[in-house]
Amino acid sequence: MSGDADSALSNMRTQMERAQEYAEVTENVFKRLLHPERTLEVSLPVLRDTGEEEIFKGYRCQFSGARGPYKGGVRYHPTVTMDEVIAMAGLMSSKTALVRLPYGGAKGGVVCNTKELSRGEIKRLTRRYTEGIRRMIGPKVDIPAPDMNTGPREMAWMMDTFSVYEGYTVPEVVTGKPLEIGGTPGRVEATGRGVAIITERILEYHGRSPENATIAIQGFGNVGSWAGRLLAARGAKIVATSDVTGGIYHPKGLDTHDVAEHVEDGGQVASYEGDVEPITNEELLRLDVDVLIPAAISNAVTRRVAEELQADIVVEAANGPTTPGADEVLAERDIPAVPDILANAGGVIVSYLEWVQNTQEYRWTLEEVNADLERRLTSAFDEMVDAYADYETPDLRTAAYTISLDRQATAHEYRGLFP
Ligand code: NAD
Repeated sequence: MSGDADSALSNMRTQMERAQEYAEVTENVFKRLLHPERTLEVSLPVLRDTGEEEIFKGYRCQFSGARGPYKGGVRYHPTVTMDEVIAMAGLMSSKTALVRLPYGGAKGGVVCNTKELSRGEIKRLTRRYTEGIRRMIGPKVDIPAPDMNTGPREMAWMMDTFSVYEGYTVPEVVTGKPLEIGGTPGRVEATGRGVAIITERILEYHGRSPENATIAIQGFGNVGSWAGRLLAARGAKIVATSDVTGGIYHPKGLDTHDVAEHVEDGGQVASYEGDVEPITNEELLRLDVDVLIPAAISNAVTRRVAEELQADIVVEAANGPTTPGADEVLAERDIPAVPDILANAGGVIVSYLEWVQNTQEYRWTLEEVNADLERRLTSAFDEMVDAYADYETPDLRTAAYTISLDRQATAHEYRGLFP
C-alpha cells in the first residue's frame, strides 16, 4: 500500500512502476526512464525595487529527450523544489509520449512569491532566469512554456532575452507567447478546453453526456475557469468552484462567465456576490456530483478524500492531484479517474501547434487549432480506454502510463545506448 506523504518524484516513480508490468520495456531501459537526464540549479541575483539585491533559486530539468526536443513549463512558486521540478519533467515526458507529440519532457521553476514582487522585479527575475538556463534551451533543444504564475508576459520576456543573445528574433524558443509575437490563437484556453473535451469523452464512455451533468471544480484559475465555462456551454451544471481562499456552491449551477469575470477583475471566488452559498475546499472535494475536477494543486485527493468523495468520475486537470494511495482507493471503489497526463495535455498540444507555426512562419486560424487539439485528444483518449480494456489495468492512469512507457521504450530501443 502506498502512503500519502511521498514526494512528487516518488509518486511519479510509483506510477511508472505500476505500469511496468503491462508495458514492453526491458529492465535496462526502464532504469533509464526513471532518471532525469540532467538538472540545472541556478542562483539568480535580482535587483529589488528597494535597491537591495536578492538571490533567487531556479531550476531546469530535462528528463527525457529520446522522442524529441525537451518541452515543459516554468513555474514560479514559493514551494518549488528541485525534486518537484524533476517529477514534473518526468510527468511531461509521459504526457508528450501519450498524446504522440514529437517531444521529450522538461520542467523549470523559480522559488519565489510573485504576489510579493513588482512587475519590474518579475521582469528582471525572468530575464536573469532565462540567462541562467539559456545554454540549455533552444528551439531544437528545449522549449519552455508557461506554468503556475507565468503566462504570455513572462514568455515574451524569455523570448526577448534569448533573442538578444542570439542576435535575431527566435519566437520558437518558447510557447505560450502573446499573439503579436508568435503566439497561437487558442493557447490561453487550451488546457481548459482539453479538460472539457476529455470530460465529455469520459461521460460518453460511461453512457452519459455533459448535458445536465453536475460538476465541481477545485481551483478557478486559468485551467479551472476555462474548463468550467466550456463545460457549461456543453450544458453541464458547474455546481461548485473554489480558489485558495474558499469556494461557492449553487445546486442549479453557477454563472461561470460572471464568476470568471469577478476573478479576472482581481476578486476571490469566495467573495463573489451572486446567488451562492459558501463552501470549503474540503467540502467541495466530497460533493455528490457526476464529475469532480481538481484543477488547483498536487495531492488534493489523498487516500482519506478518496475514501469519502462522492463523485462518480474524477478528471485530473491539475498536475498530480491524486496520490498513489488515493488511486488504490478509487480503483477499489470503482471510481474512474482520468489521469493528468491526458486530461490536461491540451496545453502542451497547443504549445506544439504554436511551435509548428513558428518554425513554418505560418499562422493557423483558431478553428484549425481547436480542431487539431480535439482530434489529438480524442484519439489519445480512445487509445487509453482500449489499453485499459486490453491489458485489464487496475485504473486508467496505469493504462495511460503503459502506453507512454511503451512509446518511450521503443524510442530508446531504436536509438540504442551511447556509447
Ligand atoms: P492558476 O494559478 O491560474 O490557478 C490555480 C487556482 O488554484 C487558483 O484559483 C488558486 O487560487 C487555486 N488554488 C491554489 N492553491 C489552492 C489550494 N490550496 N486549495 C484550493 N485552491 C487552490 O493555475 P492554472 O494554470 O489554472 O493551473 C492549475 C493546475 O493545472 C496546476 O496544477 C498546473 O500545474 C496545471 N496545469 C496547467 C496548465 C496550463 O496550461 N495553465 C497545463 C497543464 C497543467
